Amino acid sequence: MNQTLTPCPNYIAGEWLTPSGPTTPVYNPSTGDVIAECPAGGAAEVGDAVAAAAAAFPGWSETPAVERARVFFRFRQLIEQNYDKLCVTVSREHGKTLSEARGDVHRGLENVEYACGVPTLLFGDTLENLARGVDCETLNQPLGVCAGITPFNFPAMVPLWMYPLAIACGNTFVLKPSEKVPLTAILLGQLLEQAGLPKGVFNIVHGGRPCVDALLTHPKVRAVSFVGSTPIAKYIYETGTRNGKRVQANGCAKNYIVIMPDADIGKTVEALSTAAFGCAGERCMAGSTALTVGAAAERLLPDLIAAAKAIKVGRTDQPAQPDMGPVITAAHRDRVLSLVATGESEGAKIIADGRGARVPDAPRGFYLGATIVDGVEANMTLAREEVFGPVLNVMRMGDLDAAITQANASAFGNGAAIFTSSGRAAREFKHRVKAGMVGINVGVPATMAMFPFTGWDDSFYGDLHIQGKEAVQCYTQQKVITSRWFGGDVGDVWKK
Ligand code: NAD
Repeated sequence: MNQTLTPCPNYIAGEWLTPSGPTTPVYNPSTGDVIAECPAGGAAEVGDAVAAAAAAFPGWSETPAVERARVFFRFRQLIEQNYDKLCVTVSREHGKTLSEARGDVHRGLENVEYACGVPTLLFGDTLENLARGVDCETLNQPLGVCAGITPFNFPAMVPLWMYPLAIACGNTFVLKPSEKVPLTAILLGQLLEQAGLPKGVFNIVHGGRPCVDALLTHPKVRAVSFVGSTPIAKYIYETGTRNGKRVQANGCAKNYIVIMPDADIGKTVEALSTAAFGCAGERCMAGSTALTVGAAAERLLPDLIAAAKAIKVGRTDQPAQPDMGPVITAAHRDRVLSLVATGESEGAKIIADGRGARVPDAPRGFYLGATIVDGVEANMTLAREEVFGPVLNVMRMGDLDAAITQANASAFGNGAAIFTSSGRAAREFKHRVKAGMVGINVGVPATMAMFPFTGWDDSFYGDLHIQGKEAVQCYTQQKVITSRWFGGDVGDVWKK
């Protein structure tokens, strides 16, 4: 269907500019229609954006923290006022349901709220009389130009993980959003402009690898925040640090959910179904593998299969909403299908098969139904690779010890969860499991803005995580001042 394309400009030095040159298509995954053309920028656009950010830094970094915070109070209000428009934009370019889009925007909004607290977040430490008459204090000062490179799966939340806090801390910023979902980033940028942010403090440059490489090697970029897949996260970390930048880079995940025989099965089915199939499985915190312990499988699977089969797939760009929308592209759908086929050929059994999902009024949409694969073994591809689609693996474990060993064998370490009514089992699990975010009877233990998003192993490269106090540290550098004052006229006044 022919429709008007949504403009997709860069935002540089306070100007919305549509460059001429190559573009990549942005789809409405619900229909397969192209809805925008994303500029494929490179070193020239990045150079302009970094120059604008560098020029804005002296003025912005000298702006008192309370004044900087006020911009984010206004930004917060504007996000609330434009909530529906933002959610429709997220849903239209990503394909998640409106209710999932609300979650995406809401989690982002919480990060803006966190950034509003920057005057206290920037507090330093002091110690009086470090030695006699000598005092010590720390200051947390901004770095300069920071950059953010973001994935497709949370068009609002992930960029909002980064720039509100970085900018509130006194830095200036260049965002390179995912070329698959650039429109939400633009809408948020327009709101930030309306909130009164001075020109050049925030910039958006669209593109793919050439843009990323220009940011990673630009001498004026001081820090890079990245979220995306592990091979690219590793590349970003290695290239960015080699070029002298501070880097935090989040990667892929394979999150295990242990179900003990004593778990509340009704609640577990509900949580597992949301964890595995929410956002069509395109979440780095998706619960992609159920490790059923002992008799848990027999208690769990009939209801879980029924829940998966009841999930209605459909287009999310209409007022009537389905339970689950499409995945991001046709290529991604085909990759997921091929991983499921590999699982089958390696001996796993498909017990809920969503591969034939069709949506009659949108035959070119990128749909997959909820799929459950049973009998997955440790040596199978499905047990190792991130699928990033609505596919739940089931691995049957003899006991909790075996389940923890399996979870810990993963190269990734983003999230892990346990469902049980035993405090002892929960305690054992939280103590031993090798993952940065752990849920106890919570299927998606994604942390909120005030806590760091603590991926481990191949899920994270860097030292300081996104969100919370670690992010404040990442976007600031500490200065320690040691001072003493010698006697003299003024000092003598104090003498008794
Ligand atoms: P992706 O790695 O393909 O892309 C992420 C960003 O990197 C995009 O902006 C893209 O333009 C850029 N990029 C892609 N290829 C590049 C290359 N060769 N060189 C330089 N830059 C490149 O990821 P995606 O498909 O957009 O997002 C899904 C992935 O993100 C999943 O693996 C998911 O687990 C991960 N993710 C992780 C977290 C987390 O916090 N750990 C959160 C959300 C998503």
